[in-house]
Amino acid sequence: MSSALLDEAARIAREFDYPADQVNHGVTEYIKQSNEGLAQENTTLSQIPTFVTAVPNGTEKGLYLAVDLGGTNFRDLFTFLARQIEAFLRIHHNEHFEAHLRRRRDDGNHVVDLFDLGFTFSFPVRQCGINSGTLIRWTKGFNIPDAVGHDVCALLQSAIDDLHLPVRVAALVNDTVGTLMARSYTSPGETGTLLGAIFGTGTNGAYVEKLDKVTKLQHMKDAHYDTSSGEMIINAEWGSFDNHMSVLPTTVYDDELDADSNNPGVQMFEKRVSGMFLGEILRRALLAMHNNPALGLFKPSKTSKVSLPSDSLFYRQWGLDTSLLSQVESDTTKNMVDVKAALKDHLKIEHPSETECQAVKILVHAIGKRAARLAAVPLAAILIHTGKLETDEIVDVGVDGSLVEFYPSFEAYMREALREVPQVGVAGDKKVRIGISKDGSGVGAALIALVASKDE
Ligand code: ADP
Repeated sequence: MSSALLDEAARIAREFDYPADQVNHGVTEYIKQSNEGLAQENTTLSQIPTFVTAVPNGTEKGLYLAVDLGGTNFRDLFTFLARQIEAFLRIHHNEHFEAHLRRRRDDGNHVVDLFDLGFTFSFPVRQCGINSGTLIRWTKGFNIPDAVGHDVCALLQSAIDDLHLPVRVAALVNDTVGTLMARSYTSPGETGTLLGAIFGTGTNGAYVEKLDKVTKLQHMKDAHYDTSSGEMIINAEWGSFDNHMSVLPTTVYDDELDADSNNPGVQMFEKRVSGMFLGEILRRALLAMHNNPALGLFKPSKTSKVSLPSDSLFYRQWGLDTSLLSQVESDTTKNMVDVKAALKDHLKIEHPSETECQAVKILVHAIGKRAARLAAVPLAAILIHTGKLETDEIVDVGVDGSLVEFYPSFEAYMREALREVPQVGVAGDKKVRIGISKDGSGVGAALIALVASKDE
């Protein structure tokens, strides 16, 4: 029985193989879809112009506010945010704040010296300027239909004004853009950062594009922005790459996850790559083996004294957190002590047999590795598309998110796939410098507020 279990785990694992030829198909298709997104609206890759036209070099200084709404930081509505801003100002900048209020009283309603705030809002937004944009759709499991189609900066500004706070929403910031800016601010050397990428709850990236390639800007007649750099940061919204599934790999577990999600048919790339989904893919694969009477995974037998309580999160949709994958993948112990601890901590599964632990390891490895190899697709495509590998310079990339930070070898597997793309190869991979850009969404938002306030 135990060898049947491992055979089946290996068979399922093979379904998650994502070989070099598929990586290359993915890259070709990504470049195609990204060019479509630069030319027109309503494409799979949204390629949203951010109206941020320069990256910082580390010399910028000033006092700016940053608010971050997205992923696991998401809490509640705009009034709540405005109240938090007020509380923050009172605690950290009370003197400045009181002076604003005094002047506001003295000058009638004339407000001077506003705090400039960068608003990190990590959902797809159609931007029409640096501090305005309408929500296209919610992602990452959020769904507040009323907000779709509204200008999220205006919503926040109006909640701030209701509380008479001396704050101007100066910039709308996607967390990937923030990551790019923050990385560029701190990265070593003169080279600006090319790409900011997130592999956390969701996945997405923003990169520096030549303005003349963003042909859809010609249709945005009332957009105004600084053209002197000849560049603009583009928020790719790559979570929705290949939503029509022309090149993305799939398994029955991916298909079922999608069908049971609150947004079937969209964010198809993200559903194979990011933290919110990898645990659920694994759970579904393990559940299929558990429900197969010939395998008996996590069912007590002559060879296994395993116990799996009926209230275990194993039986609950979204019940398996992706941090379990990191714990399992990092286990190098002979008796799989860490795998056992992870199964117990996350799923209340006790006394699994070594074979059962081995089966879990096989699946975790396959799912994690496919995600990391998929992550190479947008990276390779952007390197090729921007021509950045054609010079001798280092290409700097900032990344953030628990998956890339904590999943062992995520970067190594991503680079392995990158080298399998002939236009990148070993030489190209060597030029790519990847660095973690911690809390980029916060620092980057303040940097963009700074850039935006200079534009005024
Ligand atoms: P954000 O919500 O801002 O993207 P994170 O980058 O922390 O925040 O991502 C949270 C996601 O990462 C969750 O889906 C969670 O399951 C997953 N996660 C948390 N810890 C780990 C870990 N150690 N390894 C892999 N994934 C993790």
